[in-house]
Amino acid sequence: MKFPIYLDSHATTPVDPRVLEEMLPYFTEKFGNAASVDHQFGVDAADTVDKSRRRIAKCINASPDDIIFTSGATESNNIIIQSMAQRDPAKDHIITCVTEHKSIIDTCKHLKTIGKEITFIPVDCYGSINLQALEEAINEKTALVSVMTANNEIGTIAPIKEVSAIAHKHNVPFHTDATQAVGHIRFDVNAYNIDFASISAHKIYGPKGVGALFFKSDGLAGKPLPLFFGGGHERGVRSGTLNVPGIVGLASALELSINSMKEENNRYQEMSKLLINGFLKEASPAELNGHPLQRLTHNINISFDNVENKALVHAVNDKLAISTGSACTALNVEPSHVIIALGLGAERAYSAIRLGLGRFNTFDEIQFSADYIIEKVKKLRKLKP
Ligand code: PMP
Repeated sequence: MKFPIYLDSHATTPVDPRVLEEMLPYFTEKFGNAASVDHQFGVDAADTVDKSRRRIAKCINASPDDIIFTSGATESNNIIIQSMAQRDPAKDHIITCVTEHKSIIDTCKHLKTIGKEITFIPVDCYGSINLQALEEAINEKTALVSVMTANNEIGTIAPIKEVSAIAHKHNVPFHTDATQAVGHIRFDVNAYNIDFASISAHKIYGPKGVGALFFKSDGLAGKPLPLFFGGGHERGVRSGTLNVPGIVGLASALELSINSMKEENNRYQEMSKLLINGFLKEASPAELNGHPLQRLTHNINISFDNVENKALVHAVNDKLAISTGSACTALNVEPSHVIIALGLGAERAYSAIRLGLGRFNTFDEIQFSADYIIEKVKKLRKLKP
C-alpha cells in the first residue's frame, strides 16, 4: 500500500491517465489557437474545441451552443451571480442557500456591500434546503435562484427539479452549481429545467483550471454579461484564448465519469458502508453529517464526539490525506459554515471530518483507513482531560 492514502476527492482528483493521454498532443504538436483560423493549426484547434463542446453537451443533455468554457466553477459561478444581480436595476435580488460553496456565498456577500439584495435560505439538520422558505423569499425584484446540486462538504443532494419548478413558477431563472454532481449522479439540464449550470474538470479526474458554464439561450434569462473584456471569445461572455488541452481534458473526463458512474457508485456504496459501520461500531459516539440517503456515495462526513477534527486530521496525516472542510486562517480556525448551518451546534462542526472516496482507492486502503481513524479517535479521546 502506498502512503498517504488520498481521501479528499471533493477538494480535487488526480487526472485519469486516459484523460491525460487524450490531452497530451494539444500541448505540443496540436498547439494551435482556436481563434486563429487563417491556417490549419487554428482550424484544427477550433475543430477540437467544437468536438469537445458537443461531447460535453451530450453528457448533460444540452445544446452545444449553450456551453462556454471558463477557468472552473468559481468563474462560472461568478459570471452568473454577478451578471444576474447587475443586469437590471429593477431586478437585483439573488436567492441562494446558506450551505453553498464560497464562490457563491462570497460573491453574494460582495454584491450586498454594493447595495444588492441577497437572501440566504436555511437548511434542515440534513442540509436539505427549506423549499417553503425559498418560495416565500421570491419577490418581484428576484433576478435569480441559485442552489447547488450536491454539497461539497456533506454530500447532500438537493431536489433541484423542485427548486427549479418553484423558481420558474415565479418566472425567475434557476442556476445550479453542479461541480460536485456532474459525473457522479445523473445530471440533465433539460429534464431538470435548468437555466444555468457551473461545472469543473478537476473534481472528475480532469485537469485543474478548466470548467464550463451552461446557459440556456432560449431560457428565461438568456446570455449572461461578461466579467471582463477582450477578444469576444465564447459568444462574448468569456474572452481569452481557449485552453484547448484543458477543454479536451474536461470532455474526456466527463465522458469517462458518466460511463463508469453506475459501477463507481456501487463500489463507493460498499466502501462507505465499511467505513461508516466501522466508525459507528468501534468509535462511537459518532454522528454522520448530511442526508442519510440523498447523498453522494463517495462522501462521508462524520463527527466523533470529543475529538477535535484538526487534531484527528493531524494525527492520521502520516498515512491518510483527509480534511475538515473548514476554513482556516493564520489567526483563527473557523468551523465549517455548512455544518454550522445544520443547527446541530458548534461542537459538531469542530469535530467533523470529511472523507472523499475516489476512483483509484482500493478496498484494502479503505479497510486500513477505517482501522487507522478508529485507532486515532480512541487515542485522542484517552488524552482528553
Ligand atoms: N463549487 C463547488 C461545490 C466546489 O466544490 C468547488 C471546488 N471546491 C467550486 C465550486 C470551485 O471550483 P473550481 O476549483 O473549479 O473553481
